[in-house]
Amino acid sequence: MSDTDDQKQAARKAEPYQNEPHTDFSRAENRKAFAQALKDVEEQLGREYPIVIDGKAVSSRKSIVSLNPSHKSQTVGTVMAATVDHAEQAVTIARRAFEQWRKVEATHRAEYLELIAAEMRNRRYELAAWMVYECGKPWMEADGDVAEAIDFCTYYAMQMRLLDVPVQCDYPGEENIYFYQPRGVAVVISPWNFPLAILTGMTVAALVTGNTVIMKPAEQSSIVAAKLFEMIRDSGIPDGVVSYLPGYGEEIGPALVENPDVDVIAFTGSREVGLLINKQAADNPPAQTHVKKVIAEMGGKNAIIVDEDADLDEAVQGIIGSAFGFSGQKCSACSRVIVLAPAYDAFLDRLKGATESLQFGPAEQPGTTIGPVIDEDALERINDYIEIGREECTPIVTTDAGELAKHGFYVGPHVFADIDPESRIAQQEIFGPLVAVMKARTLDDAFEIANRTDYALTGGMYSRSPKNLARARAEMRVGNLYLNRPITGALVQRHPFGGYQMSGIGSKAGGHDYLLQFLIPIAVSENTMRRGFAPPSDEESV
Ligand code: NAD
Repeated sequence: MSDTDDQKQAARKAEPYQNEPHTDFSRAENRKAFAQALKDVEEQLGREYPIVIDGKAVSSRKSIVSLNPSHKSQTVGTVMAATVDHAEQAVTIARRAFEQWRKVEATHRAEYLELIAAEMRNRRYELAAWMVYECGKPWMEADGDVAEAIDFCTYYAMQMRLLDVPVQCDYPGEENIYFYQPRGVAVVISPWNFPLAILTGMTVAALVTGNTVIMKPAEQSSIVAAKLFEMIRDSGIPDGVVSYLPGYGEEIGPALVENPDVDVIAFTGSREVGLLINKQAADNPPAQTHVKKVIAEMGGKNAIIVDEDADLDEAVQGIIGSAFGFSGQKCSACSRVIVLAPAYDAFLDRLKGATESLQFGPAEQPGTTIGPVIDEDALERINDYIEIGREECTPIVTTDAGELAKHGFYVGPHVFADIDPESRIAQQEIFGPLVAVMKARTLDDAFEIANRTDYALTGGMYSRSPKNLARARAEMRVGNLYLNRPITGALVQRHPFGGYQMSGIGSKAGGHDYLLQFLIPIAVSENTMRRGFAPPSDEESV
């Protein structure tokens, strides 16, 4: 028996848990229902969404206009943008609400999450349709986002019930107990690329552990966040426990992060902002009597190695899905491919053919696999990298957005080859449909190139050699390693998700120890030797 088999036998088994199934769009009735949801939501475009603090709608002098990335002339809605004053009010309210919310039984809090999950199931196509319009998510990606949000609710509810059982460790004459209490006020700052799932995950984790929450969604996905807020409110969670605080990150972010009444900051987004938050949160203003906890999930520059004996058909399929799903706008996306020299030419040839066959167009069309990118800034940034690619590397696939460019923020799939592993394209997170292919002479070389980045998020390898796969397990420095399969599409519990180095601080989202970050462990030890307790006082005995 190999070492790995021994380890498997010794491994702890995960608790039984059922992920929410994804919609099967090969069935006509599902396609019809989704098309109807798109129509229904289209009729609701253009509305206004207030800030909500303490259950009350709040207006602001500033707003954020959310545009449909597939059709930039279409306004999805207008969201009030919170000011620093609103941020301070929200923290004050959250601090006050904490005193009651912390006393709610953990099992009761878990039930709220299950109610939210049930409502998400009821509104499943509608929620996904909002993501199609607000974030340009193709159908299947939007559907997967809702399924993941449901999973975060049901999984964290289950995990909280397990954590709610105190650990007892008694000795003769001494009773010892170990249990958890909430931290306090949590600020949740989320990105736009998983507009429902990531915001839900961080928010419900904080809630179920007994913290109150200020939800600060990304500017580009504040309407999807408003839908989540509606479901939280409809579940019956008391006013003030969660505030909905859309706004510009650079304006209200520091006011939230530096506030002495905030205990925990759960952030997902770019490395730049994550590191800034970590620094700001570390500063202890005089009124603050605790050290803030920061959970920060950041970017990636993820590589897949293609071994010389890999099944190239399988590798190309997996790489296409990992690189171009949601236009490469996933932190887990494959943006580097490292191919062993003997397979290099054949691989490039097949990757080119497969990339050119992808359907590129507006997200609401059912056949679209590559939709638009999120906004004008992203479009410009990705196009700058494409220019660098044209100048410094060998273009294998370049796609012109053509007529589409007039209507929305479109960048087609791009593949560049013969890339220097130190070049900007090979080192910087691009967050778009651009793949850098590199040649490696040996497997040692391949691992060295794969690990030569600041990030450590996802990575993968296609190989038929058990020995080489075992080396990948030992040598690839990533938080999530995927062997002979795509590197995106992590499922709650099955693939707890998150990285290290510049990819993140904290435990994995959707993993068994994620909730612990929102809790403070307490140990109580009591000497129970008979010493003659004081008799009850007159008052107590009445
Ligand atoms: P971003 O960092 O620009 O924004 C994320 C959030 O931070 C937004 O809500 C934004 O308003 C807010 N923000 C901006 N400046 C702030 C400041 N000074 N203080 C406080 N908050 C501030 O990221 P994005 O463009 O929304 O998302 C894309 C990034 O997210 C990519 O780098 C991607 O890799 C990363 N991401 C990581 C994971 C993960 O699990 N590791 C998952 C999804 C996305």
